[in-house]
Amino acid sequence: MAGTLYLVPTPIGNLGDISGRMADILSRADFIAAEDTRVSIKLLNHLGLKKPMVTYHRHNIDTGGQVVVDRLLSGESCALVTDAGTPAISDPGEELVVRCVAENIPICAIPGPCALVTALAVSGQPTGRFTFEGFLAMNKKNRRAHLESLRGETRTMLFYEAPHKLAATLQDLSETFGPQRPLSLCRELTKLHEEIWRTTLGEAAAHYQENTPKGEFVLVVRGAEPPEESEATLEDGLLLVERLRSEGLSLRDAVKRAAKELNLSRNQLYDRAVNS
Ligand code: SAM
Repeated sequence: MAGTLYLVPTPIGNLGDISGRMADILSRADFIAAEDTRVSIKLLNHLGLKKPMVTYHRHNIDTGGQVVVDRLLSGESCALVTDAGTPAISDPGEELVVRCVAENIPICAIPGPCALVTALAVSGQPTGRFTFEGFLAMNKKNRRAHLESLRGETRTMLFYEAPHKLAATLQDLSETFGPQRPLSLCRELTKLHEEIWRTTLGEAAAHYQENTPKGEFVLVVRGAEPPEESEATLEDGLLLVERLRSEGLSLRDAVKRAAKELNLSRNQLYDRAVNS
């Protein structure tokens, strides 16, 4: 029987975010697949653990992925860790999960630190509906197409960005959504220099034209205002009643349905319908 792939989130800055379950899985797994063993060894040392490790990262997705899958198929269990946060969120863990799904290998995700959820929660932007957009492409055409696809987006939008591309990204976002669009710039979350700057795209873009960005960033951009719903009038109601009657409904039923659909007073609509 195949072993289990455990997706083990690791702190995004603060080692105090290590959970008991995370440590337990790391200590019990047969081996660890790490994005960068030099980063993960520090975590293991902190936990007083020694474990066999293999590397699995962006540049060995095929070969490294196959090694992990073969060992899982032979019955070993594997804990996948990335440099920080939840594996498979904007990192190559995604491809390993897809491979394991295809091989019917059991997968168990441990809940834990994730930059996007932490940023969303602290942003002060609406959280009821949001869309995670990951990193914008470097390629100009793909980047433009990605931004264009978001032009009318009404949900809160979250982006990851590396410091050396932040200024250009803020400029592009400001041009797409307008400089007044509210932005929560979440920097160095859970770390000593954590900063949440609730500002606008224009202000942030101007600031980072002049100042070099330092640290890690999540951008939380307010969605577009939804178009105002126009309120239906009694005339709209009469038209709908007429249509429903032509479909065979009685006057009473047509009024009932139209009033409900258009959020109108049933009595007023009925009076208008019999007097028109
Ligand atoms: N899998 C990770 C997760 O669960 O958040 C994300 C990995 S992705 C390769 C790295 C990006 O996450 C960074 O470029 C940054 O946008 C964001 N990030 C990670 N740690 C962060 C932190 N402490 N503060 C702000 N952003 C962070």
